[in-house]
Amino acid sequence: MAKINQQDIDTLRERADIIEVISGYTSLKRGGTNTMKGLCPFHSEKTPSFTVDRARGLFYCFGCQEGGDLYKFVEKIENLPFPEAVEWVARKFAFELRYEEMRPGEQAARGLKARLLAANAEAATFWHKALMDSPDAVDARRYLKSRGFGREVAERWQLGYAPGRNSLCRHLLGKGFSEKEIEQADLGRRSERDRSLYDSFRQRITFPTWNLQGAVVGFGARAMGDAQPKYLNTSETPVFSKSRVMYGLNRAKSSIARGADALVVEGYTDVIALQEAGIEEAVATNGVALGESHFEQLKKFGHRTILMLDADAAGQGATERSFGSHHRLGIEVLVATLPPGRDPAEVVAADGSEGIRKVIDQAQPLLEFKIEQLLDKVQLDTPEARSRAVREVAQVLGWHPDPIARHEYAFMAAQRIGVDPEAVQRALAEGRVAPEASGDASGRDQDRRLPERVKVEREALQLLLTRAREIERWTGMVSESDFTSPARRELFRAAHAMHSSDRQQPLASMADDLSPDALSLFSELAVGADGSDEEDLARRCEEIFVRIRVFSLEREIKKRRNTLGGINPVTDPARHDDLFTELVKLEAERRDLLRKIRGAA
Ligand SMILES: [Zn+2]
Repeated sequence: MAKINQQDIDTLRERADIIEVISGYTSLKRGGTNTMKGLCPFHSEKTPSFTVDRARGLFYCFGCQEGGDLYKFVEKIENLPFPEAVEWVARKFAFELRYEEMRPGEQAARGLKARLLAANAEAATFWHKALMDSPDAVDARRYLKSRGFGREVAERWQLGYAPGRNSLCRHLLGKGFSEKEIEQADLGRRSERDRSLYDSFRQRITFPTWNLQGAVVGFGARAMGDAQPKYLNTSETPVFSKSRVMYGLNRAKSSIARGADALVVEGYTDVIALQEAGIEEAVATNGVALGESHFEQLKKFGHRTILMLDADAAGQGATERSFGSHHRLGIEVLVATLPPGRDPAEVVAADGSEGIRKVIDQAQPLLEFKIEQLLDKVQLDTPEARSRAVREVAQVLGWHPDPIARHEYAFMAAQRIGVDPEAVQRALAEGRVAPEASGDASGRDQDRRLPERVKVEREALQLLLTRAREIERWTGMVSESDFTSPARRELFRAAHAMHSSDRQQPLASMADDLSPDALSLFSELAVGADGSDEEDLARRCEEIFVRIRVFSLEREIKKRRNTLGGINPVTDPARHDDLFTELVKLEAERRDLLRKIRGAA
């Protein structure tokens, strides 16, 4: 397996002009001192909040929070995986890429994945055999039969039964898999008590989950009887990510690619029942809420998705953020409502596949569904109630990025509420003015609404990212644990790693390995960051890094005070005194630091 030479990736990133690439998708004008601005190509807007920092090779949208380097831009806009995005840029700038064989470490990572897939395949076979033949599985077979799943269905879906008693771990060890591999595939887990290995699933019906290439990557497991929780799922492993893999998509993809709308249902048995009835486009998540990464998967095959979830779960799909991401991905989301108290399998059993088709045909756009859900809950019998409803609806409508669609929904909602369409339009206009106006001038206006602690952490990260060499004498004051969100901690870690490495790397190369949240924060902080002069920089650093420390100390002090409150000084004097001494020390440190900032100011 050949991969692109890393040095070429870095060289190309520096040589290619990010402005030239992005100008092919939106027109950019001069923004701040170091930035260009334009209308965002990822969401619809009237005033530009999409910002490009040519010198740093980064972009960030203050409206939808998309950000990254040139490669991330091409990945997103052209919907390409990373290596193909690099090749795309190379073609555009006539740059010849070198390819090389993988290094041993990378081969080992591939080797590990292959071993884990083999262990999963072996587990699926072992459990399937148990379901088909073992006397242990009588109840499991009876249950499946009651759901209409006979032997043939069980074979087609490789359903299984996990008897427990560590039979799977023993079997896998006998087949030459190591304890570590079994644990890494989450087929076995370690006992808290004596660290011994036990089967992850016991006395449960197992549903293997496949990746798009058809390899078993994980399992869902349903309890027999009343055991809780009813469903367990494989946790994240090197071959299984719950936020990406969708149950049944390996089978559904060709039918979706041929033009059927993807149909998202609640669980494993719904997928099986529907696909068996000829509704081949049915898929489900693996025990997690439907998220943006799932839509990215579905988007590979089609552009419309129908949610056939219970009303609450479908309603949760309609949030401000989800509309942004649907729009960005170019996916249309509809909601199909099942007859009350029925699941898809029951509809199939009663009315066949035509019954389901009828439900699908009546699917409504997600926003329409959300508005109806909202209006169902309120009385519309007084002018005040109608006015309140108008405002609530306008707020939800404001999420829709498309002004024409917004207009249509406003008309529909007005009829439903019994007011003049003008009223909804006006509320919509009022509601939308605030965020757009403040977002235009400078996205950093949002800063003012953030809690003090968050502001300070963000500013520290910004300095670490853009001025690291000049501020070395302060950075030692803070550590990862001083940051209070996962994205900020990740970014601190990455900035720290980059600055402690010998090789001097361009800032934009950090974009390669960050999680989506950290990437967005990184771009936001780095794009257009200004350079204050040295004296000012020293003052800022002093203040910021000291204050982060103070915040952390305050957190520690509070924690110890709480513990201290629960300790009886008479019965447990030693512990009480220890804690008290620590508390005094922390308080003293805090006082000293505060004196330092006030003295400086
Ligand atoms: Zn945007």
